[in-house]
Amino acid sequence: MKCRHCATALDPSADVFLDLGAAPPSNAFLREQDLGEAERHFPLKVLSCPTCRLVQVDEVERHEALFSDDYVYFSSYSSSWVAHARQYVDAVVDRLALGPQSSVMEVASNDGYLLQHMKSRGIPCIGVEPTACTAAAARAKGIETIGEFFGAAFGRRHAAARGRVDLVLGNNVLAHVPDINDFVAGFREVLAPGGSITVEFPHLLQLVQLGQFDTVYHEHFSYLSLGFVIRLFASQGLTVWDVEALPTHGGSLRVWAQHRDGRRAPTARVSGMLAREEHAGMDRPAFYRGLQARADRIKDDLVGFLIEQKRSGRSVVGYGAAAKGNTLLNYAGVRPDLLPFVVDASPHKQGRYLPGSRIPVRDEAALRAARPDCVLVLPWNLRDEIAAQLAYVRDWGGRLVTAVPELQIW
Ligand SMILES: [Zn+2]
Repeated sequence: MKCRHCATALDPSADVFLDLGAAPPSNAFLREQDLGEAERHFPLKVLSCPTCRLVQVDEVERHEALFSDDYVYFSSYSSSWVAHARQYVDAVVDRLALGPQSSVMEVASNDGYLLQHMKSRGIPCIGVEPTACTAAAARAKGIETIGEFFGAAFGRRHAAARGRVDLVLGNNVLAHVPDINDFVAGFREVLAPGGSITVEFPHLLQLVQLGQFDTVYHEHFSYLSLGFVIRLFASQGLTVWDVEALPTHGGSLRVWAQHRDGRRAPTARVSGMLAREEHAGMDRPAFYRGLQARADRIKDDLVGFLIEQKRSGRSVVGYGAAAKGNTLLNYAGVRPDLLPFVVDASPHKQGRYLPGSRIPVRDEAALRAARPDCVLVLPWNLRDEIAAQLAYVRDWGGRLVTAVPELQIW
């Protein structure tokens, strides 16, 4: 296999960053009628390029197969994520002085969770979203949405037909695209002179330092540092001029970029974050070798806890059928005997089964009825939001549990 950024040949044993065995795609939820069928499992192994330091999954399954029309993630079902989008819109409109004369494009615009705030401020905007069911939900909100994959060819075609845009943004999409060079070239093509790009992605520094191994899944092709993203953008004629550290997804970066000849000077936050990455050793091989042992410890602690609960007659159910939960449960080999069901707020997941573990997904009424002794909160990044929502679990003496970055009962 070759590095998807710099084409260096990667060694499948020497360059391993994390090996989680084999698992089905994290979003391949099963219906009742699927339970009699086998599931396709793919190796979940992540390599780090010794040349450019891109951390990447070693096999890229066909993009279209993973992001089928059945894809069930609707951004609007997370209230904290919608609030995050509104704060972003307030900040970017102010900083770039956007108004009715401007144009905005969001790549991977999902169900319009973000562009609805642009639209309500009278700013012309277009979403690009290849997943049919979320794109349809965005259109129902009155947001123009193009159902295509983004990249250099799309950017050129759009610029020629509809003109270039003043802001192009992509939140949590850069890590999800197989051809990362072509995707970033699309930004260059569609961006108007003087315009800005913003992208948000989980920060590799946090992933390693906080042991967030469950954020690794097949659909997540790349794991990114600021240093790498600066090199990636530079290779496509773009420069990074600012960076913000965000609390989303356990620690993300929002990077601001422009054309190479853009007039904005890099802020001190860019050099500051690069210094943090260097201090953590991200330019040295050892940084990319420590996560496996940490992941194994987290897995062992969780399995030990669940077995102990079962043996002492205490009940545990899960909360939040997110992709990261599937990585954790499948790596740990947890099945319905240890975790009989998982609750999720999304009606698109209720009534289905988690891929691999085949644990049923139910609505919250099932949790209230079961009155479990413990609720294992799988999306630890939404821990505070979920803890507030599940405050009633304490009424019957129930406790909440998180497994990452270490087993905590609270
Ligand atoms: Zn490389």
